[in-house]
Amino acid sequence: MKKGVLKKIEDKLKKEKVSVEALLKGFAKKDKELKGDWNTIYPSFNGVSGGGVLEREADEFQEYESKLDVEHILELKLRDINLALEKIKKGKYGVCENCGKKISQKRLKISPEARLCLKCRKYAR
Ligand SMILES: [Zn+2]
Repeated sequence: MKKGVLKKIEDKLKKEKVSVEALLKGFAKKDKELKGDWNTIYPSFNGVSGGGVLEREADEFQEYESKLDVEHILELKLRDINLALEKIKKGKYGVCENCGKKISQKRLKISPEARLCLKCRKYAR
């Protein structure tokens, strides 16, 4: 891969990292003990009025669940971004973790944090 292309990808990854972290901060606080792990803040029960207590709890639980989903996705994305940045440093970026072949530049431009080539990605699901 050309240095210029790699630099662009690295910049893109760094920008994505900042925005993913900002998103995570929006509804989760970073766990100080477990580095890199995020805890979703459980919504307060003493908030909105109206509806029975149980109903309210169910709503809040649902909200908590969907937050967990998003948090999980963001966490995985952040992990992949960090991995990709690490690989760039080591000069091992753009190689499929499964088959060891080069991942196409087209794919990397779209998802720079990709760890598998398109072919392996298909089988991984
Ligand atoms: Zn592969």
